[in-house]
Amino acid sequence: MGLWQARQEREPGRGNPSGHSKAELSPPSVVGRVAQRKESSRHKHPMYSAFSLLRRGLVHDDWPRVWHEHELASSYDVVIVGAGVHGLSTAYYLASRHHINSVAVLDKGYLGGGGSGRNTAILRSNYLTPEGVRFYDRSIALYRSLAADLNFNVMFAPRGHVTLAHNDASLRTMRWRAEVNKLQGVHSEVISPEEVKRLVPFMDVSARTRYPILGALYHPPGGIIRHDAVNWGYARAADTLGVQIHQSTEVLGVERHNGYVASHYGDTFDLLKGENLRARQPD
Ligand SMILES: Cc1cc2nc3c(=O)[nH]c(=O)nc-3n(C[C@H](O)[C@H](O)[C@H](O)COP(=O)(O)OP(=O)(O)OC[C@H]3O[C@@H](n4cnc5c(N)ncnc54)[C@H](O)[C@@H]3O)c2cc1C
Repeated sequence: MGLWQARQEREPGRGNPSGHSKAELSPPSVVGRVAQRKESSRHKHPMYSAFSLLRRGLVHDDWPRVWHEHELASSYDVVIVGAGVHGLSTAYYLASRHHINSVAVLDKGYLGGGGSGRNTAILRSNYLTPEGVRFYDRSIALYRSLAADLNFNVMFAPRGHVTLAHNDASLRTMRWRAEVNKLQGVHSEVISPEEVKRLVPFMDVSARTRYPILGALYHPPGGIIRHDAVNWGYARAADTLGVQIHQSTEVLGVERHNGYVASHYGDTFDLLKGENLRARQPD
């Protein structure tokens, strides 16, 4: 790895990590919002129309790539480690909401190959602490409009969520959770085995089972989502906005140099990060 070459010359917007001016970072005014809408319509992702799906489904060729491959550039404003839902969504919102488009997302494996592509795919906000409930409630609100925002069917099915209680301790915690949820304006309630049967008719709620159902926490706003689609939707939308996604690219370390945080990935590339975040290739 070559010597670090800190870039300390003044650039517009220096003094905040994004390199954007204060005006660019403040909440958008009405004019700002209109400009933002125009900007985002310029970057509209290619539409998946019913006609093109039918045509391509029949002839089965010419499917547009969901995201593209790139050579590693010598410089990015932001480098994100991990192409899971957090890394990809961060890249997408940086590009779409903050106009920071020089972004690389690096993953040592494949996109969505971590927890994001291999989870239970449940969305819910019926947590135990007020902070957690509010956080996940906002998250579910984002998911409701995510397909339209990304122009990608993420298959969110808000079909309600039921957590079964098989002992008194679980039932007690569920009552507690229901009350915390209600105080935050989130719909959760403890229901009887008969109500479970009405919601899920094939469920055996009799006392004959190995673990009889004593009740359940019912959370109507909860549901399921196609986790792969969330990753692919964010990847496609971020890619359209200029974000580069690099799979099979492992970050090997993060280190400090001359007051900067530096990290390096692979043996071909190293990165400087500071007030002006820059990456460069070794000498
Ligand atoms: C079994 C299971 C079930 C779950 N069920 C649910 C659920 O129902 N609902 C829910 O909301 N959440 C669920 N979760 C949690 C959810 O999956 C995670 O919170 C979420 O996927 C985390 O996303 P992430 O982007 O932070 O991490 P990940 O998706 O794990 O992504 C991290 C990425 O970083 C990459 N990486 C790691 N080190 C490096 C490196 N040095 N260089 C380059 N790349 C690197 C990895 O390859 C990986 O792709 C579940 C989790 C598990 C494990």
